[in-house]
Amino acid sequence: MNRVSKRAWALVVLIAILLGGLGFFLGEFFMNASVWVGHTNSPHLFGNSGTAAGSVVDRNGEMLLTIGGASSYAESAAVREAMLHWLGDREGKINAPMVAYYAAEMSDYDLLNGLYSYSDVPGCIELTLSADVQAAALKAMGDHQGVIAVYNYETGEILCAVTTPTYDPDDPPDLSQEELENNEAYDGLYWNRVTRSVYTPGSIFKIVTTAAALETIDDIQQQTFECTGAVAYGPDTVTCENAHGTVDLKKAMRKSCNCAYAQIADQLGADTLMRYVGKFGITTSLKFDGITTKAGSFDLSGAADVEVAWAAIGQYTDQINPLQYMTLMGAIAGGGSGAEPHMVSRVARGEDPVYEVRSTSTGRLVSAETAQILTELMRNNVENNYGSSNFPGLTVCAKSGTSQVGGDQVSNALFSGFVADEEYPLAFIVVVENGGYGSSTCVPIMSEVLAACKDEMDKN
Ligand SMILES: [Zn+2]
Repeated sequence: MNRVSKRAWALVVLIAILLGGLGFFLGEFFMNASVWVGHTNSPHLFGNSGTAAGSVVDRNGEMLLTIGGASSYAESAAVREAMLHWLGDREGKINAPMVAYYAAEMSDYDLLNGLYSYSDVPGCIELTLSADVQAAALKAMGDHQGVIAVYNYETGEILCAVTTPTYDPDDPPDLSQEELENNEAYDGLYWNRVTRSVYTPGSIFKIVTTAAALETIDDIQQQTFECTGAVAYGPDTVTCENAHGTVDLKKAMRKSCNCAYAQIADQLGADTLMRYVGKFGITTSLKFDGITTKAGSFDLSGAADVEVAWAAIGQYTDQINPLQYMTLMGAIAGGGSGAEPHMVSRVARGEDPVYEVRSTSTGRLVSAETAQILTELMRNNVENNYGSSNFPGLTVCAKSGTSQVGGDQVSNALFSGFVADEEYPLAFIVVVENGGYGSSTCVPIMSEVLAACKDEMDKN
């Protein structure tokens, strides 16, 4: 090869590298530029430069946040507190994921010159959340720490998503690092538990085990189980607080009989349980509006039979994310599939929509028949255990859970399910950390929150 052709080849290689790099840059630029400029701590959003303007409103157009110049939050202190972990604070301790995600749409960011057009027309993010329901949920939660979430399983709209503890961004607590770390009232203060926490589910997980049993054990509804108060696995046992005697699936669910569920777990086996937990989405993340939820976990690799039994009862190493579990409840309520949740319905500049949500489905998670049977079993729980009078005007189907959290800590209380009424297609979950018994702590809370949701839906 002579010198000239060597040089020509070297030039070709250099040009190829240049073009490759340019292609990569442009790809990154078009994919991510709006995210870069819309970073949560971007001065365009929360600075006082006045360069970007906009607002965030609730599902009824109630003002939750105005951005630009001197930013301001909702008028009601309760609404400010209930919205804090979605809209962020002034000090950058808590971010505003949706504002960051839709910043480019809001402020008319121009991809070609990298500039905001700073049009006179302010952008507006319309949330699916209801300020009234948020305030009612915060009140129902009282001094408890935890999560309340409710969504419409037909449309995917999240009506309620409250995480506590919280505070008023217009009157933040003046805490030293030491106070923050040592004051239990402020445990995880800056943490959005709705999206970023996972919890041991306890007996609300029996819905998952029941679904797997209905789909794989032909005669599961004809079987009976003996509960003497304990099932032995060599030196280990699975126990109930009381002996429940002879129970079928319906009664095992209503009494939350651990011994019956241990016997069901024996029949299912670790592999089938893991396969169905995966299929139900427990171990995957939800993604919407710039938010990614923490995935739950369910790992039975190398587990002994007694550990598989405890896992089927929602203990062992099981972990669920509240929003993900709520979505599974929505799929059961929807006859086997439901809508994926979202929190932004529309972004507009003036009258012009620049983003409108399109509802997406979970796909089929359980068969229509399984969904129907689960609905009947969970309705029976409410009618004969939790009390249907706690939910006037709503056909609530649910399961409570009390999950052990280790050491001498008081158990976490959980309650999850859905409303089986066409006019009120709502799925929900409440987690009260160290709340004690699931039903006694959570039913009164969910009673208030669902009543507020019903009022909200009756407005339209
Ligand atoms: Zn029992």
